[in-house]
Amino acid sequence: MASVLIAGGSLGGLMAANLLSRDGHTVTLLEKASGTLDGRGAGIVTHAALVEGMHRCGMDPATALGVSVRGRVTLDNHGTVLGELAMPQVLTSWSRLYQLLRDLLPPDCYRPGVTVQQVRQDLRGVQVATSAGRFEADLLVAADGIRSAIRQQLWPAVQPLYAGYVAWRGVCEETLLSRRCLDSVFERFAFCVPPGEQLIGYPVAGAGNRTEPGHRAWNFVWYRPAPASGALTELLTDADGVHHPQGIPPHKVSWREIARMRSDARRLLAPQFAEIMEKTAQPFLQPIHDLCSDEMAQGRVALLGDAAFVARPHVGMGVTKAMQDAMALADALREHGAAAAWQAYAQQRLPAGQRVVERGRRLGAYMQGLARDGIPAGERDPLTPMAETAIDLDAGDAAQAAAASLSRTGDRPVPFHA
Ligand SMILES: Cc1cc2nc3c(=O)[nH]c(=O)nc-3n(C[C@H](O)[C@H](O)[C@H](O)COP(=O)(O)OP(=O)(O)OC[C@H]3O[C@@H](n4cnc5c(N)ncnc54)[C@H](O)[C@@H]3O)c2cc1C
Repeated sequence: MASVLIAGGSLGGLMAANLLSRDGHTVTLLEKASGTLDGRGAGIVTHAALVEGMHRCGMDPATALGVSVRGRVTLDNHGTVLGELAMPQVLTSWSRLYQLLRDLLPPDCYRPGVTVQQVRQDLRGVQVATSAGRFEADLLVAADGIRSAIRQQLWPAVQPLYAGYVAWRGVCEETLLSRRCLDSVFERFAFCVPPGEQLIGYPVAGAGNRTEPGHRAWNFVWYRPAPASGALTELLTDADGVHHPQGIPPHKVSWREIARMRSDARRLLAPQFAEIMEKTAQPFLQPIHDLCSDEMAQGRVALLGDAAFVARPHVGMGVTKAMQDAMALADALREHGAAAAWQAYAQQRLPAGQRVVERGRRLGAYMQGLARDGIPAGERDPLTPMAETAIDLDAGDAAQAAAASLSRTGDRPVPFHA
């Protein structure tokens, strides 16, 4: 059995820690944040591989991962249905997954308040310098996110690239919403597609992770253009004039920007979505980036999750991808032993990561109305995002069957743009 250090205790790090410790390895997880991370993040689309991984982590198969929806709907800016799609899916939340994974992990594995600073490796193992001193092990997993300190040390050329737009995000309590909103969108995976923009949303567990009707919440993501040289700077500047170039904390988002966003929602989105924006207590925003690695392992160090690849959220794959990485890592260590495991892992997961980043770029370009893949600039079908966003690519036939079930108000066919 090996000793393994994991840098980063968010979802990806917790997944790897659970799987490796269940296989009998000695795991120490080093997380920079000193308190709990619970309360971060919002909605997460689940896919079959995520559910499989949660079971492998020890989650009781009877445990509901989230809220189920029957299908999808796209509304125009007046709130009229443009089309519908039968696509059952389970939507969960970041907090729910985090809590489940923390509860499953032996508590002595988790070391909060430890910032990984530097790594060295030799024939005997890895040595990691941290804010709490030096740690040693046979292997290291870097699950320290998009700005991974370990990746920046070993692969400094690999950097996040801003995609030219941001996502406004938020979660609105079910009880606050009107009957019209509840009946027409709340129980669906819903879409609205103003030119060059896109709003998606779906129900998730509410406070206390409750999933019964009346106690749920509605999670939304509204993608909006924000040029790096203009609007982005304003959006990332708080009400006291402080600029947060690496991302603005949710509670720092300026009230002026929130007011502007809500006013734009009334003008551009279906009234149901404008209502949700108005009633969401603390909308927050995230710039959208691509991050694409050429390597995932170097000797005794492997990258996992967002440290290796960040695909635009249109693919809804970030958490599932982290779980697929964690499962592949555990399998490689079991099958190949410490000396060869990370190379075998990288060989398997590198092409998968590159594919998902590329798909995210294509879906983003489609939303932005850029000319790509033989589709002229500006020529878009408003129902394509509904057929393509956050689908389970491994479901193959099921995804095609769902696309075939699409019904629209009007008679144009939907180009399937996979
Ligand atoms: C708008 C938006 C919507 C999204 N929607 C979805 C979705 O629908 N479905 C989905 O699957 N995914 C979604 N994602 C992505 C998802 O949140 C992540 O991909 C997923 O959480 C995996 O991340 P990770 O654990 O690898 O890294 P992160 O979650 O970034 O965690 C990195 C961890 O490392 C810690 N850390 C950082 N540096 C250090 C250090 N030096 N030392 C120690 N610790 C350190 C951090 O504190 C953090 O806890 C979305 C993302 C965005 C932006």
